[in-house]
Amino acid sequence: MKYSIPVAKPDIGEEEVKNVMEAVRSGWVSSKGSFIEEFEKRFSSYIGVKHAIAVSNGTAALHLALTVLGVGQGHEVLVPSLTFIAAANAVTYTGAAPVFVDSQPDYWCIDPELVKKNITDKTKAIVLVHLYGHPCDIDPIMEIAHSRGLYVVEDCAEAHGAAYKGRKVGSFGDISCFSFYGNKIITTGEGGMCLTRNEELAVKMRILKDHGMNPNKRYWHDVIGFNYRMTNLQAALGIPQLDRIDKLIEKKTWIARTYKELLREANNLVHAPEMPWAKNVYWFYSILVHKNRRDKAIEFLGQQGIETRPFFYPIHSLPPYSRGLKLPTAEELSARGLNLPSGPKITEDEIYYVAENLENALSRKNV
Ligand SMILES: *Cc1c(COP(=O)(O)O)cnc(C)c1O
Repeated sequence: MKYSIPVAKPDIGEEEVKNVMEAVRSGWVSSKGSFIEEFEKRFSSYIGVKHAIAVSNGTAALHLALTVLGVGQGHEVLVPSLTFIAAANAVTYTGAAPVFVDSQPDYWCIDPELVKKNITDKTKAIVLVHLYGHPCDIDPIMEIAHSRGLYVVEDCAEAHGAAYKGRKVGSFGDISCFSFYGNKIITTGEGGMCLTRNEELAVKMRILKDHGMNPNKRYWHDVIGFNYRMTNLQAALGIPQLDRIDKLIEKKTWIARTYKELLREANNLVHAPEMPWAKNVYWFYSILVHKNRRDKAIEFLGQQGIETRPFFYPIHSLPPYSRGLKLPTAEELSARGLNLPSGPKITEDEIYYVAENLENALSRKNV
């Protein structure tokens, strides 16, 4: 085997090591310490939203956002079915019911037409997920949300730096949520962030993430909160990552361009989309292949030392959420989708090797 190529390995440099060591040595290893506020400030200015609240992970960010928006028992929240399960679970934690919406076939995110069709008197909010680095078609959804008085939460866990009509995702919704898990565009190990323009929501999120404790009266709890705090160690790792986020995104874009170019003659695959109104940050280079070939390709590539990932299962098909619903586009994308190695450390030779083996896997008769 020529290589061993992981699907996503983070790029952690000497600056990260230095910062984390400084945090460790300072003794500020929990959720007090100067790195947290600095990380919040820098992240909020990077996306262009005034208030940033650092939290322990992306799922906590989603739960916190829905909670301060007043989502709870008796409400419905629209979520795309084709995404990671976190958004649906966060809705469930609040006591509300997730309502699964099918994908738009060209760019794979939630379909605005179907959002409209799924709104009922119980609908309280819509969660937009910018899937695999590609933004949703946000304008028509904001329009529906405004006319029906619904909140919009953006799940940007896979799309740091992606843009819709020239403006960064995460700056459109009432609250936007990010994840800094190890395979995301930037990482803090585990970690997350909520962004909002609304100061009142920001204050509420700060209180709720810290056990609901009154910020002016220690150990006085006006409400039942959570421990969703980010640690100073996580923030120390995140700051140098944020320093070179543009470079990391440039690398992702180069990876995508290279795959697209090398695989341009492969007529049995569909490339990752980038709509005219979109800047895709290509969290993964995602392709569609014939559904009878997908799992065999994963196996064949695995034998060549190449790790790949199938797309998510549509959430409406998973045991906790299955109610016999049929969402044909999400189901088809899920059966055909394949994520190629796209970590920021991948080399040109490795991309060539992946592309060559992928073409073999797709053209061989009986693999
Ligand atoms: C990774 C991810 C999350 C969850 O983030 P964690 O930090 O792992 O909790 C949420 N939504 C999407 C779309 C994700 O990809």
